[in-house]
Amino acid sequence: MSDGHDDARGAAVAPAPDVAWGAEVERQLERGARRGEHARAGLLETVAELTLSIRAALELMVLRGVATRDEVAEGYRAQRAKMKEDAARQQLGLGLNLDPGDKYGARENLLDCAARLPLCKGVCCFMEQALQEDDLAEGVVRWDHLRPYWIRHRKDGGCFHLGPHGCKIFDNRPRICRVYTCELDGRVWLDFAGRVPNSEAIEQLLAAAASGEEPTE
Ligand code: SF4
Ligand code: SF4
Repeated sequence: MSDGHDDARGAAVAPAPDVAWGAEVERQLERGARRGEHARAGLLETVAELTLSIRAALELMVLRGVATRDEVAEGYRAQRAKMKEDAARQQLGLGLNLDPGDKYGARENLLDCAARLPLCKGVCCFMEQALQEDDLAEGVVRWDHLRPYWIRHRKDGGCFHLGPHGCKIFDNRPRICRVYTCELDGRVWLDFAGRVPNSEAIEQLLAAAASGEEPTE
């Protein structure tokens, strides 16, 4: 058995990959990332409480005549706009689907996907999908370690679980994959009933997925 050194003819022999070790490293990474994200969630809660306290203090300032209500309202609008931006950024950063629904009980979309694939190019499997806690516990669906808990993508932008004949984890696919319907998604169809795809938007989505760009609405 080779130990990774040269064989009898002098040619280098690559060591066999240690699958068990790799799986353990992945498990540790997953645990570490989940712990970090839970800590971050706690921090966000604390920040929200602080925000409420500050608002209460501002209200008191108005009551005591330190600032007018208009001045406070203007400051509030400015801060709110900033918070919305921050929230959007956090949503992109943390892909955890907080929908409590059981994916196995979800009402699934019944689209004629096979017939539409030449038109839609299966673009839904190139989109970002946020996983649920149950997916993480189940451990079948893979997520991107650099961007928890978005589903993992291949280098070409396709879902890690997308095979030549469709979804390789069909029975365990995430909830969003079950319930998503492109019927009203203007990025996919200009006219769903008339089977007119939004080819330009589809190409943009495929290109963005392949380039690893963050998703945009
Ligand atoms: S984009 Fe729509 S029609 Fe095409 S595979 Fe996805 S769900 Fe089916
Ligand atoms: S899990 Fe399956 S259905 Fe969902 S995006 Fe990946 S390949 Fe598509």
